[in-house]
This record gives sequence, C-alpha cells and structure tokens, in this order.
Amino acid sequence: MSAMHLQARIYVAGHHGMLGSAIVRQLQAQGFANVLVRSRAELDLSQQQAVADFFESQRPEIVFLAAAKVGGILANDQYPADFIRENLEIQTNVIHSAWRFGVKKLVFLGSSCIYPKFAAQPIREDSLLTAPLEPTNEWYAIAKIAGIKTCQAYRRQHGFNAISLMPTNLYGPGDNFDLNNAHVLPALIRKFHEAKLGGLPQVVVWGTGTPRREFLHVDDMADACLFLARNYDAESIINVGCGEDVSIAELAALVRQAVGYEGRVVYDSSKPDGTPRKLLDISRLKALGWQPRIPLAEGIASVYQWYLANIERARLKM
Ligand code: GDP
Repeated sequence: MSAMHLQARIYVAGHHGMLGSAIVRQLQAQGFANVLVRSRAELDLSQQQAVADFFESQRPEIVFLAAAKVGGILANDQYPADFIRENLEIQTNVIHSAWRFGVKKLVFLGSSCIYPKFAAQPIREDSLLTAPLEPTNEWYAIAKIAGIKTCQAYRRQHGFNAISLMPTNLYGPGDNFDLNNAHVLPALIRKFHEAKLGGLPQVVVWGTGTPRREFLHVDDMADACLFLARNYDAESIINVGCGEDVSIAELAALVRQAVGYEGRVVYDSSKPDGTPRKLLDISRLKALGWQPRIPLAEGIASVYQWYLANIERARLKM
C-alpha cells in the first residue's frame, strides 16, 4: 500500500511559499488529516540540530520539501552566497533527518533552471548536466542539482524513497507581484491592472513578445506532487509541466483580456528576451497518467481575482 494514506503524518516544508501553500490546500482538499507545518520562527531549516529534533519528535511519514530560498535575477546576482548556502543547508538537513527518522517517502522540488542554458526543446530529463547552466542563477541551480543528487545518493546507499520533481514556470495565488523581480505572468497582471485603473493608453511589455514559455497553475502542480508521491518511485528526476507553451505576446493578450484593459500593448525591445523557448518534455509524467486541469486563460482569470482580493497583502513592493 502507498505510504500516502489519509491518516499519514505529512510534513510540508515551506508552507508559506506559493507551492508549499498550494500543497497544503491540496492535501486538505483530498482529506489528509495530519498535515504538519512549521513557520520559520518555529523551525529554522538551516539549523541541523533543530531539524533533527523536529523529525525525532514529530515522526512524519511523508515529506514535501518545498522550502527554498528563491528570488529573481537581481537577488541571485546580489546574494549568490546566501542562495547557494541556504538552499544546500535546508535540503541537506531535511533529507538527512527524513532518512534518519524513518520517513517513507520524500518529494524534493527542483526547478527547470537546473537544465543547461541551451538544452534541446522540449527539455528532457536526461539533459541534466550535459552542458553549462544559465550563469545568472547558477547558485540556485547548483544547489538544486545537489539536492537531486542527495536524493539519488540516499536512495542508492540507504534505499531511501526520495523522488525529485522539476516544475516548469509556476503561477498562482501568493505569487510575487514586485515588478523588480516578478516573473512575467504576475508582472503583466499588475501592469495591465494599473494601466486600466490609471486610464493609461498603453502597457509596455519587455522584449519582442516572441519568446515562448510554459506556465502551470500551482494548484495543478500541487495535484501532480500528490499524484507522484503516490505513483512514482524512481531515481530519475521527473518533469512537471502542461506540455504547451505560448509566446509572450499571446500571454499579454490573455492577461489583457482577463483584466479587461482596452489600451494598446507595446514592446520594449531594449529589454532582454532571455532564452527563446523554455518548454519541458512531459512524456514521462503523461505516461503515468497525470494531466493538468486548469487552462491558462482560466488560471490567469482566477489569479487576477486573487490579486484584486489580496492587493493589500500581495507581494507588491514597487
Ligand atoms: P525567464 O523565463 O527566466 O526568462 O523569466 P521571466 O518570466 O522574467 O521572463 C520571461 C519573458 O517575458 C522574457 O522574454 C521577458 O522579457 C518577458 N517579459 C515581458 N514583460 C515582462 C515583465 O514585465 N516582467 C518580466 N519579468 N518579464 C517580462
């Protein structure tokens, strides 16, 4: 029987984050009765002894490791030491204690930035470590790759059932709307909304509008996390995406429609396009029988509603 039964003690590390909170919602929605969470003030995951004490006393059976230090290109550039150290500490402490105190299954969350900068598209799992990374976030990426390898090493040496999932670009409630370091989807929601309120004649979208990106709603990601916790037990990493990408121009049109903005969209080609395409190959995931449920237009509309309802507490800064 799968260790994922409704009475299982399930620890979600990083439950204040966009993905961690979606995993908690999904577990609750599916009827899991013993979900454990700890705020950072209660449990600092970078402290080895504190993490060991937590696992020893609470004895979770399943762990979703969604805690990480994350940030945009600016933050990665300014705090490379923090990014590499904190992520290495958090994941090493959690994986080691999980194994030591008898966790039956651990789900480690990586990121698509672990893949080579010029990986063939759609990106297959076996392109990991075949070529250089994108240098702007390599501190974070190297730490995540070390996390994948830690899971694989504990599986080989100790038979520990740790799996590693690589999500595509996620969006959803609780996203970062600070224009200095937000990703494109929440940034556009904010820009179109403010242009509509201010009656501005145009919205400026960075780059040429031609790059293509894949977007997955975080509730679909959380559903995939539970699905894979039940149905996937292998050493190899596994991609999680929706299998389809859109151009930034198409994305802008969807956001414009969701917000109900009637002005023009213009492109600022002095801003970087970044990589021309980023799409994950999800054949492995599909073969297991999982598929996303939230179409992009619907997801954007619901995140816009969330943004309107939470504008006060949304991460807005600038
Ligand atoms: P990336 O996937 O790592 O390149 O991250 P982003 O989500 O930041 O950017 C994706 C694409 O959206 C790039 O081509 C950006 O130039 C473009 N883009 C257009 N407008 C914006 C914006 O307002 N903010 C961001 N972050 N990207 C934008």
